[in-house]
Amino acid sequence: MQRAYELISMTRRREMPTRVVVAAVLAAVLTFADRTYFPLIWLGLVFVTQLADFHCYRGLCDGASRGRIRTVIASTFVTSSVYSGLSFYLWTGDNEANHLLALLLLAGSLLHVAIHMYPVRSLLIAAAAPQVALFFGLPLGSWLTGTPDMWAIAIGALLYAAHLAVAIRKASTTTREIQEARARAEQASTAKSDFLATISHEIRTPMNAIVSAANLLRGSPLSPAQHEQVEMLKDANAVLLSLLNDVLDLSKIEAGKLEIETADMDVARMLHGLQRLWQPKAADKSLRLDLVIAPDAPPVVRLDGLRVQQVLFNLISNAVKFTSAGVVTISLDHDLRGGDRVLVFRVTDTGEGIPADLLPRLFGAFEQASAGTTRVHGGSGLGLAISRRLAGLMGGALEAESVPGVGSTFSLVLPLVVGQVSPAPQDHEAADPIGLVGLRVLVAEDHPVNQRVLQLLLEPLGCRLTICDDGAQAVSIARWETFDAILMDMQMPVLDGLAATGQIKSGGGVNKRTPVIALTANALEHHRAAWLAAGVDLFVSKPIEPGRLIGALIAARAFRDQDAGRRLSA
Ligand code: ADP
Repeated sequence: MQRAYELISMTRRREMPTRVVVAAVLAAVLTFADRTYFPLIWLGLVFVTQLADFHCYRGLCDGASRGRIRTVIASTFVTSSVYSGLSFYLWTGDNEANHLLALLLLAGSLLHVAIHMYPVRSLLIAAAAPQVALFFGLPLGSWLTGTPDMWAIAIGALLYAAHLAVAIRKASTTTREIQEARARAEQASTAKSDFLATISHEIRTPMNAIVSAANLLRGSPLSPAQHEQVEMLKDANAVLLSLLNDVLDLSKIEAGKLEIETADMDVARMLHGLQRLWQPKAADKSLRLDLVIAPDAPPVVRLDGLRVQQVLFNLISNAVKFTSAGVVTISLDHDLRGGDRVLVFRVTDTGEGIPADLLPRLFGAFEQASAGTTRVHGGSGLGLAISRRLAGLMGGALEAESVPGVGSTFSLVLPLVVGQVSPAPQDHEAADPIGLVGLRVLVAEDHPVNQRVLQLLLEPLGCRLTICDDGAQAVSIARWETFDAILMDMQMPVLDGLAATGQIKSGGGVNKRTPVIALTANALEHHRAAWLAAGVDLFVSKPIEPGRLIGALIAARAFRDQDAGRRLSA
């Protein structure tokens, strides 16, 4: 209902100047024609009431309290009565043209009021009552006081008002039905997205357990056939996990729950990282993977690095997947579009290409160019759908051009905001992700969004994550499966990060020397002291800054290497 009040308030205030101008023109013409000051007095009253009315309606936007609604109803009634007063004046003259003008003015005002006020009945009645009373009452009065044919006009006026009432009723019912249908559709869509998000999250936990079990099996003595079966298990699980993550992302985007977080970042460094990451896969297929950065591209730009990486990761993955010979080129440029500066990331390949009629469809969920794609190349058909939505959320667009048999170019176009500060030099070094390929990381984090953020951040860099939801799960996984680093949220249900770290470090498991990195929102000194005592090696504060997290993991890896070296030489 508040929305209806706001809409009426907006229209009413927007049209106030028009009403005053019309009143001024009428008053001027009538003053000149009738040589009387009554129209000018009326104009003065119109002016005052319209101003008061404007003020009352503006208050409605701040909340439709009972008191406010009552004031607005009273103001509407008074304003409408004053405005209709001119028709009364016109009717009192004995000029036929004035009678006609009086009725026309009333009919027009009634129509206007009906169109704008119908969603709120009390306001509609307050505005229409004086007009209907005059519309019907003036001819009726004339008939009763001796003008014989006026009964016909009175009945005509009554029919007009009745017709308008029926139309209003129909319009209100239709609007209500549309609103109800929309609310139902929105509810259903949110329920669907929530369901998908919950189910994906719930399925992911046992699936992570399957990965852990498969890892454990792989480490035990197995026959070659059993080894192959374990690999199959792991591959199938990886496919399922990536599908679940995609569904989770898409449902979050559709439920409007995905937020974009921008920060200044060194794009060239990020692109070099992606190139290094994909180089081995491209080389496996004898493809060249080039990176071309326009020399005048701004070095530091403000964007959501995580999401940009997610989109580019998907585009490069597709380009490598669907190209059997030639070159995949990642490029960065900037341009002017409609007067605005934009940053353009392109991924171009010399692959099989996509027929023009299929191209637009591929941005829909679960769409692939041919039915056999999943069988041959894997994938779910969600990557481009997610990427285009992410581009949209970031205020940009994802565009595609393709020629079958020649190749494709996908362009991520984003608004260009040049960064204010260049990232700190030590972050440069720390953020170099080259050493993270293959790093086995146990993530203990109960919050699904943070789990996803860590995944999006680290999996593209080649880290192999095992994710669990609480400290107790972390302890039991860490008892048997060896990791290179453990990312430990501090506040978790069942067993918190502090206790879990203590048990991992002091228990006899295989990870008692694995570096533990605490993820924490409030690293006060006394907290740090307690954590250090429990065995935490490094800290990364939340919200997680990619450069620092990567830096901590690189430090953890160096720590592990040194430790391994020490153990070997011991
Ligand atoms: P997925 O790759 O998981 O199937 P995407 O949404 O990323 O899902 O891609 C949808 C489809 O678009 C792919 O299955 C493929 O048919 C087609 N496609 C995407 N990128 C390319 C490309 N670079 N060259 C040829 N076809 C492509």
